[in-house]
Amino acid sequence: MEMVNVKVNGIAVSVPKGSTILEAARAAGVEIPTLCFMKDKNEIGACRICIVEATGTRGMVTACVYPVAEGMEIKTNTEKVQKARKTTLELILSTHDKKCLSCPRSTNCELQKLCLEYGVDEDAFEGFKPHYELDTSTAHLVRNNNKCILCRRCVAACQEQYVGVIGANLRGIDTNIDVPFGLKLNDVPCVSCGQCTVVCPTGALTEKDDTDKVWAALADPTKHVVVQTAPSVRATLGECFGMPIGSNVEGKMVAALRRLGFDKVFDTDMGADLTIVEEANELVQRLQNGGTLPMITSCSPGWVKFAEMYYPELLGHLSSCKSPQQMTGAVIKTYYAEKMGIDPKDIFSVSIMPCTAKKFEVGREDQSASGYPDVDVALTTRELGRMIDRAGLKFTALPDEEFDDPLGDDTGAGVIFGATGGVMEAACRTANAWLNGANEPLELKAVRGTQGIKETTVVVGGKELKLCVASGIANAKIVMDKLKAGNPEGWSFIEIMCCPGGCVNGGGQPIQPQYVRDTVDLKAVRAKALYDQDEAMTLRMSHESPAIKTLYSEWYDGFGGEKAHHALHTSYVARKKFK
Ligand code: SF4
Ligand code: SF4
Ligand code: SF4
Repeated sequence: MEMVNVKVNGIAVSVPKGSTILEAARAAGVEIPTLCFMKDKNEIGACRICIVEATGTRGMVTACVYPVAEGMEIKTNTEKVQKARKTTLELILSTHDKKCLSCPRSTNCELQKLCLEYGVDEDAFEGFKPHYELDTSTAHLVRNNNKCILCRRCVAACQEQYVGVIGANLRGIDTNIDVPFGLKLNDVPCVSCGQCTVVCPTGALTEKDDTDKVWAALADPTKHVVVQTAPSVRATLGECFGMPIGSNVEGKMVAALRRLGFDKVFDTDMGADLTIVEEANELVQRLQNGGTLPMITSCSPGWVKFAEMYYPELLGHLSSCKSPQQMTGAVIKTYYAEKMGIDPKDIFSVSIMPCTAKKFEVGREDQSASGYPDVDVALTTRELGRMIDRAGLKFTALPDEEFDDPLGDDTGAGVIFGATGGVMEAACRTANAWLNGANEPLELKAVRGTQGIKETTVVVGGKELKLCVASGIANAKIVMDKLKAGNPEGWSFIEIMCCPGGCVNGGGQPIQPQYVRDTVDLKAVRAKALYDQDEAMTLRMSHESPAIKTLYSEWYDGFGGEKAHHALHTSYVARKKFK
């Protein structure tokens, strides 16, 4: 590889030919501020914040797109550079709705942080300030264009998801980021993934905040308020409190939820285990009875919504199993309600999810096993972080506590649901035990890791099964197009997750600044926390879970039986892309 020698603030560094100044600076350990840049995804040099001085140029250039040349001397922080960046920030603020005190991104806003660092005068310029109505049309997010800085990161994220429903409308001073034809987000085929909210540097795109509904329920003495937490949340919640990425904070999370006032703290891992036994049973039935194959997992609501809008003719491939969130909710308002002698109408069921699409899922039809919604409110990891802050809890100082019985049992199989490939591995562990008589959990390493599409083959019950795992909607599309073409790969079972890397990288997870997202493989580091927990557990197969055994002995009439089918399975509808 041909290398180029440059100096960044006097530090000599050698980088591959074709590298940008930003890459050279990062190699030298120097961070240059950015606002629009996303490595490999949005390299457009639009915001001008990364401006630097470099020899051999006409003076100042944008570091994120300008290539280095042999002998180049780069200065990233001169008086001239600082002045230019400060002016750029002041110009951005001239059209910005500067209400930091009530902004959901305050203290975690990349624009606000830079403005503080550069000592801007927020009233230096008075610019053209159009007023945009908030788009609150969807269940999952709020678009506030008054805080948009036109960086287009959201556009790149939505395009990376193949969906591409947001983009720049109009030109010049009128430019704004919007959905096409002046429609609302709910009127176009948005899959509710929330990936746009994670990359937005400001408060222009945020999850819809449902915390007030939960505070109200907690204050209502007539309500029995129960919470469940998804597998991946334990691997990310600590980031809201400055803990290292990849910290597993399961015990502190349980302690925090109890101190917030929830009557019971349950683990969605139980629902994940329940999903596995029902899904494994469904797969066996399809294999033995000539059912539709390949069967595709259905635990990711963004993926399900995508299938309903883009591939309605292939919906028969989806497993009829509800997601772990909905299964746990169904069990809470049926089995648990009866066991405790509580009328399900008096139970307020909350879930803590890595995902904004879960807010859409709780409102789907056919998700009310007890006659009442299986889950009343789905909060993201970020919303839980805010509730903990508002309650004044010192998260890092909390003791470790255990989930409540009877729905607090989990297995390693349930834990790894939070990473791409986890559902497939968990299902194969149970199938391997049931059909091959294995006592030890199968380690299906071929489906671990963050690649977008993974394939492997397993032999269960004397049959060779070809498996496929995909994460991210663009990869889901590749898989679905192959199914449309007749399944040339011969897959029998497919796992699809809406978000790249799975739930650990969900659209409701803590927001890391873009320079961290560019330099740390969040998907891999967060997933490692889950695989480490799985490895340390005694019970690592879903069917071994004491909670699952109790449920089927006390409540359900066997895997896939009538009672289980009514409560734990669902159906899908073809959805229009445009309303
Ligand atoms: S987007 Fe950032 S700078 Fe703008 S109001 Fe919100 S916190 Fe303040
Ligand atoms: S939620 Fe997902 S699909 Fe919808 S606009 Fe955002 S990135 Fe696009
Ligand atoms: S909504 Fe956010 S990510 Fe999208 S262009 Fe505006 S500021 Fe950038």
